[in-house]
Amino acid sequence: MAKQVTIDTEECIGCEACVELCPDIFAFDEEEGKSHVIKAEGGDEECIEEAVASCPAGCISYE
Ligand code: SF4
Repeated sequence: MAKQVTIDTEECIGCEACVELCPDIFAFDEEEGKSHVIKAEGGDEECIEEAVASCPAGCISYE
C-alpha cells in the first residue's frame, strides 16, 4: 500500500509551514486556521518528509 499523508488537525497550530513547502500536498483552511491534506497519496516523498520534519507541532504523519 502506498504511504499516506495525514495531519492531526487537533494538534495543528496553523503555521502554514507545510503549505509553503508542499503546496500540492497541503492547503490552508482560512476558516478553521489549520492545514489540510489535499493529496494524501503519491505526492513528492522528499517534500513530504521535509514537511514532517518542519512541522513545529509534529502533527504530520507519513506512513
Ligand atoms: S506545519 Fe504542522 S502545525 Fe504548521 S500548518 Fe502544517 S500541519 Fe499545521
